[in-house]
This record gives sequence, structure tokens and C-alpha cells, in this order.
Amino acid sequence: MVMNMRRAETGYIVVHCSATKADQKVTVDDIRRWHVDERKWSDIGYNWVIERDGGIEQGRNMHGQGAHAFGYNDKSVGICLVGGLDEDGQPEDNFTSEQFESLRKLIDFQLHVYPGAKVLGHRDLPGVHKDCPCFDVRAWRRS
Ligand SMILES: [Zn+2]
Repeated sequence: MVMNMRRAETGYIVVHCSATKADQKVTVDDIRRWHVDERKWSDIGYNWVIERDGGIEQGRNMHGQGAHAFGYNDKSVGICLVGGLDEDGQPEDNFTSEQFESLRKLIDFQLHVYPGAKVLGHRDLPGVHKDCPCFDVRAWRRS
């Protein structure tokens, strides 16, 4: 585990996707390798990764500053769901029921640690012009 700066505040829980296809069995170690080897970051950008089988894996320390949401890294925790692209590489809500179940549990846990934090998708942040995480997080939470 690479040591990194502890966030002073956590006002947001930001949900992302890995933008990989449903049949790609991407793991937290794969994403860490992409971020460290290819992007030359100190560690994986997300604080948490939820793999296709619903497994909740720790990325960066949950209290540490991640690298996942421009302008919000010092005040948010980042959760990445593996998946989000269809066969043609287009955005698709193709996450497994196990992943959604784990996401609910993880959000509940994080809200216990960071009471009052706003839960939203990456695309809901101002100035973001991408589809990540390929579903409407706020509508899903109300469902
Ligand atoms: Zn994202």
C-alpha cells in the first residue's frame, strides 16, 4: 500500500466504472497496473473497486486522496464498478446484480464513516463530459 495524503474532508462519494466490456474479468490489480504503469500514478486512482462477481476490493486507502474526479479528489471517495461498455465499446449499464448489491453495502458503509456525503456518479459532477459510470446513480439509489 502506497502512503498518500489523507483527505481533510469527504463531502462526496463518487461512483465510476472501469469502461471495460462485461466479459472482461478486470480486477483491482489490473486497474492498479494501468494507473501505475501506464499513467505513472503513485497508486490506483480509486479508493474502492467492485469486481464483476461483486467482490469489494480496496484501492487506495479510503481516507487517502484518490485520483478519479478532477477538482474533487481532495473531498471525495471514489468507487469503481468494473464494466460499463457494450461489445462495440459504447456506454452500457451492464453491471451485475452482485455488483449493485455490493455498491449499496459499500455506500452505506461509507455514509457511516462520512455522514452526510453526497452520493453521485462521475458524470453528475460539474464540467464532466463523459458517461461514467454509465447509469444514473441518484435514480438507482431511489429505486
Ligand atoms: Zn469516472
